Amino acid sequence: MSADTIEQDEAEARTAAVVALLAECFTAIERNAVTRVSLRAAYLWRCHPCKEDHYLTTEACGCGAQRPSQLPA
Ligand SMILES: [Zn+2]
Repeated sequence: MSADTIEQDEAEARTAAVVALLAECFTAIERNAVTRVSLRAAYLWRCHPCKEDHYLTTEACGCGAQRPSQLPA
């Protein structure tokens, strides 16, 4: 597996982790914190044109923007 390309297995593993953490959030503040950290850790990606956050298993935003093929580690 390449270190800087998102592999499907890795995308699925990271998405599962984010989903599990979000499921334990009881407040919007907690969800916001998990989302912020997930974005920073490249467990989520943000569509910059519309500022929407997506799971790594989502390959394109509703606006048509593609998931970045490489994310900062
Ligand atoms: Zn978008």
